[in-house]
Amino acid sequence: SSLVIAVDGTSGSGKSSTSRGVADRLGLRYLDTGAMYRAMTWWMLEHAVDVHDASAVAARVDQPLIESGTDPLAPSISLDGEDVAEAIRSDVVNAHVSPVATVPEVRANLIALQRSVIRQALEDGVGIVVEGRDIGTAVWPDADLKLYVTADPAARAARRALEEGGTDADAVRASLETRDRIDATRGGLAVPVGATHLDTTPYSLDEVIDQVVALAER
Ligand code: C5P
Repeated sequence: SSLVIAVDGTSGSGKSSTSRGVADRLGLRYLDTGAMYRAMTWWMLEHAVDVHDASAVAARVDQPLIESGTDPLAPSISLDGEDVAEAIRSDVVNAHVSPVATVPEVRANLIALQRSVIRQALEDGVGIVVEGRDIGTAVWPDADLKLYVTADPAARAARRALEEGGTDADAVRASLETRDRIDATRGGLAVPVGATHLDTTPYSLDEVIDQVVALAER
């Protein structure tokens, strides 16, 4: 079916694992838009662009070639043909992605790219689960199902620490809170009109996936 499911939420809310699990269960494609902002940031850092200089960043946004795989079981992202899946999860990217993501030219460029991936899926007669922070509000407000996913800060930090291979949960929590604060200065994470709010704190991943699949099948 050609469903578009928009999943917005904070990092560590469980939205990535949930999105991939739902896409796998329903036979849909999967797009991680955060990975695109991370890849853009990695490119700027690699090319010695001052990420706090918005006009310097804006001047280069058209240069990186960012390509996202859409298989929920094997998410992939490449930059100028090179696999950067690991590099974009580094501390240096965590620390610099928010200022890059606040540059309007970055957002316009990546939103256009995200829409083209969604359009391609629909043209191919497949649906797609798209996760990010502005999918139901800005990227694809006409999504068939919109979710707003949250979790308590301690649960978010514990999940992220686990994903990042056992790093200190307190440090992860501090880094998440800094990013949330910067993200909030550009309007941050808004609740999309018509979104279902899922607080994942008390649930296992499988339970959350079951809830979303049930919503999608309604
Ligand atoms: O989801 P993830 O933690 O990988 O996102 C990394 C960063 O990318 C976020 O902190 C935010 O600054 C930015 N982002 C965004 N809009 C999106 C997805 C991510 O601004 N749709």
